Order: sequence, then C-alpha cells, then structure tokens
Amino acid sequence: MAGPFYEAKFVDRHDIMKIFAAEGVEFLLSCDGKVPLSSCNGKTIFLFFSANWCRPCKTIVPLLVELYDALKKKGKSLEIIFISFDHDESGFDQHFKSMPWLAVPFDANLHRRLINRYQVHRIPSFVPLCSDGITNEEDMIGCIEDYGAEAFPFTNKRLQELKAIDQRKREEANLEELLAHAGRNFLISGDDGKVPISELTGKTIGLYFCADWSPPCRAFTVQLTDVYNNLNAGKDHCFEVVLISTDRDLGEFNVNRSSMPWLAVPYLDRTRHDLCRIFAIKGIPVLVLLGPEGKVISMNGKFVVSSYGAEAFPFTDARIRDLEAALRKEGEALPREVEDLKHEHVLKLEMAKAYVCDFCKKQGKFWAFSCDVCDYDLHPSCVEKVSKDESL
Ligand SMILES: [Zn+2]
Ligand SMILES: [Zn+2]
Repeated sequence: MAGPFYEAKFVDRHDIMKIFAAEGVEFLLSCDGKVPLSSCNGKTIFLFFSANWCRPCKTIVPLLVELYDALKKKGKSLEIIFISFDHDESGFDQHFKSMPWLAVPFDANLHRRLINRYQVHRIPSFVPLCSDGITNEEDMIGCIEDYGAEAFPFTNKRLQELKAIDQRKREEANLEELLAHAGRNFLISGDDGKVPISELTGKTIGLYFCADWSPPCRAFTVQLTDVYNNLNAGKDHCFEVVLISTDRDLGEFNVNRSSMPWLAVPYLDRTRHDLCRIFAIKGIPVLVLLGPEGKVISMNGKFVVSSYGAEAFPFTDARIRDLEAALRKEGEALPREVEDLKHEHVLKLEMAKAYVCDFCKKQGKFWAFSCDVCDYDLHPSCVEKVSKDESL
C-alpha cells in the first residue's frame, strides 16, 4: 500500500500539482473537456470544496463567478479548482455546470483524501494555496463577501491591509474617498439629478443607512426630514443627508427615496456595501454624523436627532452638553407641580421625549406638565396657574 497517497503525505500542501500527480490525477476538467495539469503552472490556485446538495454552496457560486471574472479581467493569473462533496457523478456534473473554472474529475475516494489533507470541515470552503493564505473558512467566505476582487490574493496580509484601509477611511472620513470612486464623483438627488460630491464640502453630513421595508426606518425618516427641512430652511444649506440604502432591490430603493428630500448613493453601486462594512452597520436605521472637517461626530446620530431635533445642530458633544445643561436649568426654574385653570387634576413636571400639548395642540419636547390620572399634557408656557387668591 505504498501507493500514491503515502508519498503525497510528504508534499507541501501548497504544491497542488505535485499532490495531484502523487494522487494519480492525470488531468483536470473544464467546461470544454479535459485540461492538462500543466495549464495551472505559475498561477495562483484556489481550491473550492463544494456540493450541489448544499444551499450555501449554491448561493456562493454566483459570487465566486463574479469574482473570478473580475480578477481575470484585471489580468490576474489565477485558477479555481472545484473539488466535489457530491455523493455521485450526476450531482457533480450538475454543480460543475455553474462554474467557469476547473474541476478535479469525480472520484469519491480521491476527494475524501483531498478533504482530509486540506482539513475541510464544512462547505463551501475556498482555500487559497499560497503561503499566508487565509485558512479559516469563515474568514475566507466573509472576505469574499466583504471585499470581493479587492481581497486578491486572499492572504492574511491582504486582509489586514484592507482592514487598515477601512479604519483609515472611517477615521479620516474624507467624503470623496467614502462616497465616490473612479467611475462616479456624484450623488443622486430626488429628481435623479447628479450632485457633485465636492458640493458637500464644509457641510455637516449624515450618512443614513436605511431600508423601506423597516418600520423603524420609516418612522425615523419622518423625524430626520423634519430636522433636515428645519436646518436647511434658510439660504444656508448647512446639513446634508446621504441615503445609503439597504433596500432589497431597485424598486424598493426608489420607493424609499421618494419620501426623502436629500441625496443618495446610486443603488447599483458597490459603495453602499463598502460603507456598511466600513462603519460596521449591523442593524438599521443608523445615522452616522460627519462634521464639516471630515470627522465622525457621532455614530449614533439617530439618538441625537430623535432626542434633541434641530436644536442639537451641529450635533457635536459640546452642543449636546450645552443643550442638556440649558434643559436642566429650565427644569430647575419650574415648579414640581402646578394647578391649571383648564384641568381638574394637579399636573406634575415631567421630561418627555415628545408630546402634544392638550391646550395649543402643538408638539412639545422635554419639559411638560402632565396629569397622572388622565392623558393630559401641557407646555410649561401653556399653563394658566390657579392664583393663590382664587384657590383659597
Ligand atoms: Zn401648548
Ligand atoms: Zn387629569
């Protein structure tokens, strides 16, 4: 039993050609038929362990095809070799039909040995055969999803470089770098006009991550629109918002932005995906506020805007501190409770995020005089105090 397998054990795992030779693999398959092993010489090789019966595999194949085509177009010398986890040849054939790269001919025993050699614990698994190649399967698939062709040649070094670039982009918050790319230097307005990104310089910017299917997003859009219109009512257009849609398709994106007075990154653009990654967006809505000097002021602009509204502009920590101090002072100057001519119960001082005054019917924020017994709120300025003389 000193067969090919025994010898193959001692071959460097990166030298797939020697391994194939030692395992008795005489040729590979392409969609056009047999291909000599030598066709891989000098190329960066990736092994793709996958099966037709596996749903995540089927999901990742189109992504890999896109990646493969993009890298070939860039003139990168690479080859992907599919190694099947299929149970039979018909599954293998069916799966391989969706791939433009090469495959090891179907041989269940050989495949098992390759799977052991490369310690493949789950599929899909994409293994770069270069030194320092990313070996963690999850990292590898994540890297493909996050960075696409940019991640080539899928080494740990390249992944660290990309993460460092993201961090720098997040910290420097240069609008051109964040929002534009070689093929586009504009954003789109509601009427499909093109607005140069250079026009945003010097403004406070809100990067608004949101989708129309999300009720919390729709609710916050209403609040943000209010603040946006309020701040930009005069000549001085000081606050711009840029929609970074996470809508599921172009139709939903168009519905979503039809309710918004601000700008958007075009839907069919990888920048949306890049921004979600750079700012580590896990849930929506998120409003990232950038100052005029290109620094992140707040990652939680939603809280700032929904708590304090337009008053909070320019949304800096200093402004929020001032606002809170002024509010405290205002509260301290008010009585803890009052008796109002218009209402039969005692009204107590409360801090409320938002309410409607039952006298003037206008919106209120922060301090309110409220009834514990019934749902009754008054602006502090709408209280008509029962004078001491009358109450006696
Ligand atoms: Zn009122
Ligand atoms: Zn009452």
